[in-house]
Amino acid sequence: MNRRFFIKTLLKTMVLLNVMHLNAFAKLKEKLRTDEEWKKILTPEQYDILREEGTERAGTSALNFEKREGDYVCVACYTKLFHSSMKYDSGTGWPSFFTHYPDVFGTKKDFKLFYPRTEYHCYVCKGHHGHVFNDGPRPTGKRFCNNGIALKFVPKV
Ligand SMILES: [Zn+2]
Repeated sequence: MNRRFFIKTLLKTMVLLNVMHLNAFAKLKEKLRTDEEWKKILTPEQYDILREEGTERAGTSALNFEKREGDYVCVACYTKLFHSSMKYDSGTGWPSFFTHYPDVFGTKKDFKLFYPRTEYHCYVCKGHHGHVFNDGPRPTGKRFCNNGIALKFVPKV
């Protein structure tokens, strides 16, 4: 192993460990947050959707038109939820995805409309993101209908 390679590998490992540490710390912190704390961190619109399971009006999110390559992260805890390659134009007026990064969502049934819908939330901060339907494109057949307000787009650098 030459010196240059060794230093490069060492630096990469240090960055990775640092990221892992930050993630673990973020996870611990999210669990401890109270409603009052969330109210201070989030805008009223974000709070309504993430903590009160609200839904933004269709066609209001700029992310409907986002076509760049990058990641969509949870606006509350920065967990990576979707990659741009998982996004598609569903024509519904909400950012839509046919799949997501593994192990990032929990689900539960909600009965706010007349029929049951499957609501999904961020596994880390438990924030509500949207609903999943079975009318999506191949290969999954799923449509993750996500509130744009609950997402932050991070373009690839
Ligand atoms: Zn989150």
